[in-house]
Amino acid sequence: MSKQILKAYKIRLYPTEDQQIFFAKSFGCTRFIWNKMLNDKIEHYRETKTELKNTPAQYKTEFEWLKEVDSLALANVQQNLRSAYSKFFKQGSGFPKFKKKGIKDSYTTNNQKGTVSVTQSSVKLPKIGHIKAKIHRSINGLIKSATISKSPSGKYHVSLLVETMVDDLPKTHSNIGIDLGLTDFITLSDGLKVANPKFLSKLEIKMAKSQKILAKRRLVAKTQQRKLSESRNYQKQRLKVAKVYEKITNARKDFLHKLSFNLIKNHDVIAIEDLNIKGMVKNRKLAKAISDSSWSTFTAMLAYKSEWYGKELVKIDRWYPSSKTCSGCDHVLAKAELPLSVRSWQCPNCLQSNDRDINASINILNQGLRCLKNKTVGATGLA
Ligand SMILES: [Zn+2]
Repeated sequence: MSKQILKAYKIRLYPTEDQQIFFAKSFGCTRFIWNKMLNDKIEHYRETKTELKNTPAQYKTEFEWLKEVDSLALANVQQNLRSAYSKFFKQGSGFPKFKKKGIKDSYTTNNQKGTVSVTQSSVKLPKIGHIKAKIHRSINGLIKSATISKSPSGKYHVSLLVETMVDDLPKTHSNIGIDLGLTDFITLSDGLKVANPKFLSKLEIKMAKSQKILAKRRLVAKTQQRKLSESRNYQKQRLKVAKVYEKITNARKDFLHKLSFNLIKNHDVIAIEDLNIKGMVKNRKLAKAISDSSWSTFTAMLAYKSEWYGKELVKIDRWYPSSKTCSGCDHVLAKAELPLSVRSWQCPNCLQSNDRDINASINILNQGLRCLKNKTVGATGLA
């Protein structure tokens, strides 16, 4: 089966100095209009207890320089603000926050009949024209929108959202259970363990070192009563930290993309625990390992890729005792019998020896398959 999906392509941009100025203006204007509209909404509500329906156009007479940037960028701010409000009211998300300069500098524009397009070496954007770019792969399909961003280390990217077609991947008649772990990144029900990549831990050591130096330089500037923005040594180091951080983020994303794609490609049903990541990160000891290993990103990738490629992802209830159940005979250990430090155990009932994580992933697969079977009769979690 072939289906239409929205795929994001991230492309590195190399803007000229003038183009950089245009981008800086656009980031500034979208941030300004977000903060201004949000502030006016809050004040209006305080005074009248009703919602203010403001638009960017209303502000263009008072703040004429808003006319210099792409009006679609401003329109997208209005839309994002609206959806942030509705998330707050309907889904219980946090109240929309004010934006700060230098943090997630970006703006989004739309393609209107070719106003956004890609050549072999450039990306064309509304109001500014062609920007030099590094195009790695061809982009097939209709470009819907473009988000231009500047990273803390000063790199520019555009993320293009493209309407494109994907085909189902061939069925393999193989199913797999995944146990998300701390020792290994994942353990599979076929016995394979995938470690956290080594280069990541190397980069993390480098990161810790450069952050230490940064902290020292901050202290030096403070004792010399200099502003951080004027301390050249501090700024140089800040850039270094930002660069290492971006390297880590990119390498990790790349690792997760490849891993999730291979699992989807090689198996028809993929069973995984539905972890409450937020709840687990509260536990301090586990926090670093969990956020580092990016389980939520990985699970999200599995979810959309299984949909794209015609495979099935089953999330099983996180209360299912996947570690404590013997995959050989379904005997369940008492909680005290299996502390986290125990990596393998022998079942007191059937005497099977169980590797903690492989045993868990086999249980996750079996439970996932049971859930799938019960889906038709409306069961969701436990079988
Ligand atoms: Zn057993």
